[in-house]
This record gives sequence, structure tokens and C-alpha cells, in this order.
Amino acid sequence: MIRKKNIRALVILLAILGLLMSYQLRKVPELSMDTLVTVLPPELENLSDTGIGPQLFEKQIKVPIFLYHYVEYVKNDPKKENFATPPNVLQAQIKTLKTAGYTFVAPDDLIKDLLGELVLPKKIIILSFDDGYSDFYTDVFPILKKEKVKAVVYVVANFLNQENYLSTFQVKEIAKSSLVEIGSHTLNHTWLKDINKKTAEYEIAQSKKVLEDMTGLSVNSFAYPYGALDRRTINMVKNAGYTNAVSTIPGIKQTIRNKFFLYRLRPGYKTGMELIKFLAQEDFKPW
Ligand SMILES: [Zn+2]
Repeated sequence: MIRKKNIRALVILLAILGLLMSYQLRKVPELSMDTLVTVLPPELENLSDTGIGPQLFEKQIKVPIFLYHYVEYVKNDPKKENFATPPNVLQAQIKTLKTAGYTFVAPDDLIKDLLGELVLPKKIIILSFDDGYSDFYTDVFPILKKEKVKAVVYVVANFLNQENYLSTFQVKEIAKSSLVEIGSHTLNHTWLKDINKKTAEYEIAQSKKVLEDMTGLSVNSFAYPYGALDRRTINMVKNAGYTNAVSTIPGIKQTIRNKFFLYRLRPGYKTGMELIKFLAQEDFKPW
């Protein structure tokens, strides 16, 4: 009798688990702090044999690349709050950076500067926004236009037109503005490390094609979902025709050697002197 009861309880428990799992699978995968890869894979520490290793012309410049996700006022959602920047904070950060003499550029400009093809002002910064949430159109884009500053948005091609994400129409309008570079963040926000080679290649190459067809512009910059990268992934990004990629590894010293895993920083809520002090650090610890 007791065993029967136990078995019945187990069956009910499994059914509940099954239901929960199927619900989870239907949902767009959520970001989590735990999954962000913030340390350089050991295989990339010695870059001499990666083909992106020491080159004749090597320029190193300090370029903060800020990483943002949601930019909106979030209430009663601690998980989302962790990834959100209130619009007034973004506005204040831009003001601080302008006063400190920074020029806002896009990844395309940075790569040209590193290659010696373009001479940019001494203090440059990139604002990067991951995932292509609809608040980029409603909250970020108006601030960029008002302040006349450049930025890059990394779009997940297959998430477009879904709830809380940008629409195709909005991406086209943003791309036309010449203030915002459109980068790719795969088709489905896929973890690219250690997955089937064909799937990874398709996610990287096809997302580029979809966004290029949509905007009529070339998509040159890539962002690894969850920052998950390794040598194989880097080579796939390179072979797909991108000229650069951003990681979630903290740092500020960018060179041609790390053009496929440019370092980024999370500015959090810092503004004013606190933000300037944060940027003056020599070494940035994983967040
Ligand atoms: Zn992402």
C-alpha cells in the first residue's frame, strides 16, 4: 500500500516536472548572470598560433566598450532588474563621458583605427546593447539621437517581432540612422561553444545574411551569446566574413589580436566621478 502511494506520488511529481520543462522550452531562453563567460579560455591566452596573433602593425588602444541589456525602468522583476539600466542613468553616463572628452564610435570605426585605416580622436568609447530588446527603440534610440552619439545593437535575428524584442521595421529604421551599427547575436541566442559544428556555423553565418538582407548594409560585428567562445567559434566568426566580435571578458586594452574577442565592461549605475574612476583602472576583474 505504502509503495503504491509512493509510486503514485512519483508519477505526479514527474508529470509536474514534465509540464514545467515543456513550459520552459517554449519560452525564449532567459539570460542569467551565472552563464556569462568572463574569463579568457586558456587556449586563447597564447595567441601566437591562432592566426590572429602578433602582427607587424600592432596598435593597442584603451577603448571602453560598455555592455548594456535592457534600458528601461523595471519594477518587481529582480532578475530583469539585474540586467537593466534605467534610461536616466544611461543619459547621465553619456553626459559624464562627453564632459570627460570621449567620442562615441561604432565597432567598424574601432577596427579601422586598429588597422591604421582611420585616425580617431584619442578618447573613444563604444556603447553596445545586446539582444535587441524593444526598449532599444523606445528608450535608447531617442537618447542617442538627442545626444548625437553612436552605438551598436546586437540583434538576435529570429527573436525579431516577438514580444519585448525589436521589430523588423524598427531595425530598418535604426540601421538607416547612421548612428547605430547593427551587429549579429546569432539566430536564436545559441550557446556556440561545444555544440554541433553545422548548427554553430549556421547560427553565425545565417544571422549575418538575414540582417544584411533586411538592412541592405553589411553586418561586420558579432557578439557571442553568454560570451561563450573558444578557438573553434572564433574561426567560424572569422570565416563567416565578420571583421570583429565582442566578448564578455572584462578589459579595456583593445588590439588587433583581440579583434574577435574585444573586451567589454558593465558600467552598472555608475555616473560622474565614480564612472571616470572606474575607467581609470588598469585591470578589470570579472564581474
Ligand atoms: Zn545575449
